[in-house]
This record gives sequence, structure tokens and C-alpha cells, in this order.
Amino acid sequence: MDYLNSLNEPQREAVVNAEGPMMIIAGAGSGKTRVLTYKIAYLMEKGVEPFNILALTFTNKAAREMRERIESVVGTEARNLWMGTFHSIFARILRYEADKLGYQSNFTIYDSDDSKSVIKSIIKEYKLDDKIYKPNGVLARISNAKNNLISWRGYANNSEYKLEDEASGRPKIADIFKEYALRCFKANAMDFDDLLYNTNVLLHKFPDVLNKYQQKFQYVMIDEFQDTNVSQYSITKKLAAVRQNICVVGDDAQSIYAFRGANIQNILNFEKDYPDLKVIKLEQNYRSSQNIVEAANSVIKHNQAQLKKNVWTSNDDGRLIDVIRATSDSEEAKLIATSIFEERMNNNLNCEDFAILYRTNSQSRSIEESLRKMNIPYRIIGGLSFYQRKEIKDMVAYLRFVINPADTEALKRIINYPKRAIGPTSVDKILVKASQENTTPWQIILNARRYFTGRLTTQLENFANMVQAFMLDVKNKDAFTAATSVAKGSGLLRELYDDKTVEGRVRYENLQELLNAVKAFVDDPEKEDKSLETFLQEVSLITSQDQSKEDSDAVTLMTIHMSKGLEYKHVYIAGMEENLFPSQMMLESRADLEEERRLFYVAITRAMSKLTLSYALQRYRFGKLIMCEPSRFLSEVDSKFLNVQKPVRRPSSFSEGQATSGRFGSFSKTESKSPTTNRNTFTSFSKKKDIPNLENFTPSNPAELRQGQNVLHKKFGKGTITAILEDGSDKRAKVNFDSEGEKTLILAFAKLMIM
Ligand code: ATP
Ligand code: MG
Repeated sequence: MDYLNSLNEPQREAVVNAEGPMMIIAGAGSGKTRVLTYKIAYLMEKGVEPFNILALTFTNKAAREMRERIESVVGTEARNLWMGTFHSIFARILRYEADKLGYQSNFTIYDSDDSKSVIKSIIKEYKLDDKIYKPNGVLARISNAKNNLISWRGYANNSEYKLEDEASGRPKIADIFKEYALRCFKANAMDFDDLLYNTNVLLHKFPDVLNKYQQKFQYVMIDEFQDTNVSQYSITKKLAAVRQNICVVGDDAQSIYAFRGANIQNILNFEKDYPDLKVIKLEQNYRSSQNIVEAANSVIKHNQAQLKKNVWTSNDDGRLIDVIRATSDSEEAKLIATSIFEERMNNNLNCEDFAILYRTNSQSRSIEESLRKMNIPYRIIGGLSFYQRKEIKDMVAYLRFVINPADTEALKRIINYPKRAIGPTSVDKILVKASQENTTPWQIILNARRYFTGRLTTQLENFANMVQAFMLDVKNKDAFTAATSVAKGSGLLRELYDDKTVEGRVRYENLQELLNAVKAFVDDPEKEDKSLETFLQEVSLITSQDQSKEDSDAVTLMTIHMSKGLEYKHVYIAGMEENLFPSQMMLESRADLEEERRLFYVAITRAMSKLTLSYALQRYRFGKLIMCEPSRFLSEVDSKFLNVQKPVRRPSSFSEGQATSGRFGSFSKTESKSPTTNRNTFTSFSKKKDIPNLENFTPSNPAELRQGQNVLHKKFGKGTITAILEDGSDKRAKVNFDSEGEKTLILAFAKLMIM
């Protein structure tokens, strides 16, 4: 047990006290995750079966890393641990128990696009205005209810929800919720929130099932406890109710998911729920230099709501925190890239020692450009992932449908792709028939002759024959052979192969890559269950943070939210500007602003030896060049830890007076006290001083537009093309605009400029 010597006293105490409820609320970098890891290893060495230990992490990647670490202590037995994200663990349990809840074990997991598509069709059918009933907003309401364990029935009878919905002019949300729930159920599908909600129902309604898992999971551990929601907390509380061997670790100062329903109240309630609770504080930070730890403390001090902690470190002072002031966002990106280049040379570091963090994904574009120019390899975590690409989603939809033919969203995606002359009108007819006959669209297709006449019947029969052949393959052949036969038999592979454009080639290769992934899955000796179902489940539960390929030496780019739990030698936080960070949307209340400040705290504490903060004086946002003020957060860092670099040059449009007032240019301290003042300042500011730089706007040729491109629209501003749709007569593009959300535009009219 050598590892016990690598722990300090309170850490060791936390590890060896295995029985009973324990809460470790401790500062960033104080070894919380390390303690959890060794605690599991310790339990196993004491003879606890890995099958009896449940450990819940924030990402699959975190689970994998912990498992590897434990394996290095106790050997391959560690592979039998029940370790993973809430969603992956409980999806696994729900598959065993599906029938109890009226689902089949081959249920599909709907991703947010599927959910949105269901909501959209309901809004359309109910003839509601989708500008008032924005699908994202409606979905957020439903998600919030489910995460607070409120069903559609409960929602309809809840006066608080009712009042809020009426006040926001959307009294029909309860009806949409009901219809959404019924449709998902009919499609034998669960969305992400259902995985947790249904687990709660399962454990609540079936005492024998609860008892079984209470016996099974003798020890329950949760990392990043501060970001669990009511639904997650309720599951673990039920599971641990008998033995009470529950150990949670977290940091209230790093709670950054309130918008997703995470509830800091969980930390506060924990003591009430477990009167015998052992509370352990870890205050020594092992990750970061003295300057970084103290700078972080000086920031979080500005929050009123926090548990008292005194985070300290015995590490050296280290270097000061550089503050880069750039004239523009592109210069900011250039200065960051140059700094990485120099630091790497001077300190003999690898690219993987560097991370660049930002508040919103759209900031990555200019940074990527600079890194590319300087030949610095990088990887982005988050953004459009491999599994979100159209060609991959198409293929996955085929597999989903073959496994669960009740999956209507998958059906809609594949029935006429590649083209089989089953157009949108025919699809609508099938859907309407299915709902009249109270059955699934698949049953209607199987009995096409009974419902339709003419050419459509033949097309549907051909489609049904094809799918049935795939079903046989999936039943009789290994996952790889079956998937390959679907890729070929559906015509998908051919369709992409025939597209000889550069993008077409990439899509073809991506599809091949997906098949490679199935092959690797089948060949993996660690996998017990090699069914296509299990493969698909793993794919649906990949979190954004899991996407990174780690085989190459590259700088990591990601939003701060994604960076939780990670550490890098050098960290850059870009875009330290008012209305960007803190985000304009988080200036409505003190609670929001404090959450934003915790986000800043998370960002700072990722750095081990060097932190750099940067801001630009003007930046393209929403397609306009706007003047920016340095973030109030900059002035909250105790200045003795900062090294503010001299401006390189001023933008020509910037007046002297503005540029020099305040410690960071135009920022003035009085404004930082009042979020509202700042908000107003911004509105008038942007109206008066926006530099509309649209003279250079030349719409690109629609034929050049491709998925994944960043584009500019005169009215909607900047966005990314998420899909090119060629199903109707007009070629259309789905564009996710930074400010306006997703829009579908007809390319012939849209006038988009590739950026
Ligand atoms: P976060 O709040 O960011 O999730 P954490 O509290 O989980 O951080 P860890 O990631 O477990 O912290 O640890 C931070 C770093 O400090 C890691 O590199 C870890 O290996 C190291 N560390 C933790 N405890 C010790 C110790 N007793 N001796 C040496 N290094 C340690
Ligand atoms: Mg951690």
C-alpha cells in the first residue's frame, strides 16, 4: 500500500475510513479525485469485490483514467468496477430492468437533436408559434422538470410551473410535455433526462429491484458532487440508504452547472440526510503555484455564497500571471499562439502541456487560425464532434432503427436517404396513419399494401425488405459484419463514395472510420458484451469532453465548462471582456454573476505553473465589430499577482482617453459593482460605437457551402453550418448562429459569407 504514503494526513484519513457516509468538500487541486481513486483501490485490497463498488464520474474519460490508475494498484480486477457517468451506469441498469417500466431492453437513447425534432413536430401539429414556443426553450423546461423528478402529470398539476408558463405566454407547455413523453415512450426511446428520471421511478416503484441494487452496490462514490442535480442525488441516496457507505467529493466553489439543474443545495442537505456524516476538508493544493492559488482565492472571495475554506499550497510562488491586452480578437489569438511557441521553446515543453480556455465555442475560430499559421498542432474538445456529423448520424440512425424499429426519429432520417422516392408527404402519411392506428410507423410500412396504393407501396415494401435483411444480419452476425452490411446495403457507402468533392471524400472516410470503431469494439478483449446495441449505447453516451483523441501531442482548446477536473502546465484564458466573460446573459442576478465567477475560478485553477489572461479591445461578435471593455473579473484578481503587458499598438479608432482610464483600459471600477449599469452601458455602447464592418460583405457562392464552415449572415451574424439539406427542391443549410440559435436557410436566398 505504497500509495498511502503519497497522501497527506486528511487524504489518508479519507481513504482508510471506508465505512459510513463521508463528504469531502475541498478546494481545487487538493486531491479529491486522487482520494476517491485510492479509496477504491484500498477497498479492493481489503477484499471488497469490484462488482460491489459504484463510482460516478463527470465524464467517461474521467472514469477511464481512474480505472487505469486503480488497475495499476490492484490489477485487471479493476475492470469489473461499476464506474462511469450517471447516464452510462443507469442506462446499463435500465436495459436489464426495462420491461418493468414497459420499455423493451433495446430502447434508443435520444440525443438532443432527436428530442428537438420531436418537440418541433408537436409544436407544428398543435399549430403553435415556434417563435414563442422555441423548441430549445420548451425542451429546457421539460428537462428542468424531469431533473426535479416532476413527470408530465406532475407538471400539469403544478401551479408554479403553470403560473410561470402563463406569464411567459406559453400555457401549452404542459400539453407539449405530455405528448413528448408519450411519443418517446411509443418510440421505445429515452432522452438523457429519462435515463435518470426512469431510474428513480424504477427504484421507487419496485422495492425488490431497489433491494437488489442496494445489496449490490455496497459502496457508492461520487466525484464532482457539486454538479449533481436532484434526480441524480435521489438515485444515489436510495441506493445507499441501507448500508450508508456513500462518499461524495466536490467543491462548492466550482459549481458551474446550475443552468442544467445542478443543485448546490445537495451539498448543504447532505449533512441533514446523514447525521453520522464524516466531513473531511482538504485545503492543501498540490496542483498550482502559490501565485495561482492565491490569485484564485482573491477572485472567489468576491462571492457571497460559499462555504469557508482556506486553500493554500507549499508550492513555489512561481511566475506572475501575464495579462495580454490585444487590439483585436485576431491579434489576441496571434499573441497567444506566439506566447505558446516561445514558452514551449524556452521551457522545453510539449504542446500537450498547454490549454487555451474560452467562455464560448465561437471564440475558437480566430485562435485556431493563428495556431494553424504557426504550425502548432491543436485539438478541440467540444464543438461539433465526430458523432454529430451528418454522415455519422445517418449511419447510426440506420443501426438504431434496425435494433429498435419503433424509433421514429431514426426512421425519419433514413427512410428517404439515400433517395428512394419516399418523399416528405409520404412520410407524413405514414406518421398520421400510425397515430390513427395507434401503432408504430414501422408496422404501417410492414403492412403498406393495406394502407396505400400505387408506387409508394412498392417503395415501402422494398424498404421493409431491406431493413428486415439488416435485422437478420444483426441477429446472426457479429457487430462489425452486420454494420458493414448495413452501410453497403442501405446505399449509404455508395452515396458518399460517388461524391468526389473533397468534403464527399472526408464523409466517406468518416463512415469508414465509424466502421473501424465498430471493429475495434468487437476486437476489444476488455468488452464482454460485443453486441451492436452496446456499441450504440456507448456512442450515444459519449460526452463532449470524451471526444479528444490523445494519441498526438497537441494544444487543447475548450470552453471552461469542459475543463472541469483537468490540469495543464500552462493555461490561457482568452476573451476576458465584459459581456463575454462574464457573459452578457449572466448579468441578470447576483446568483448568475456568482456562478460566472465560479467559472472563472475553475478556469484559473486548471493551471499548474503558468496562467495567462487575455482580452481584446475590439472583437467581431454577431457579425459586427464591437468595442470591448476588459472584464470586471480582471480587476478582481489581486494585482500583486499580475503582470500587465504593455499594449502592442492601439486600434486607430480608439481614443487615448478611453484606452488609458482604469487599470485595464476603459474599464472603471464603479461599474463593476452594478451588473445592471454595465448591461445598460453595453446596450448604448454597442448602439453608438458599433463599427458595422459589412462593406466587405460578399456572399459566397451557395455551391461552396459545406457542413462545418463558419459563416457570416448580414442579419443573424456569425454561425456554423451544422448540415446541408438537399432533401427538398431547394438546397438548404442548417446554421447554428452564435446569437440567434439554429436556423434553416434556403441557400439560394440566404447570402452567407464563408469566414
Ligand atoms: P479539481 O477540484 O480540479 O477536480 P482535485 O481536488 O480533484 O481537483 P486532483 O486532480 O485529485 O485534485 O489532484 C490535483 C493534483 O495534485 C494532481 O496532479 C494530483 O496527482 C496531485 N496531488 C494530489 N494530492 C497529492 C499529494 N498528497 N501529493 C502529491 N501530489 C498530490
Ligand atoms: Mg477532481
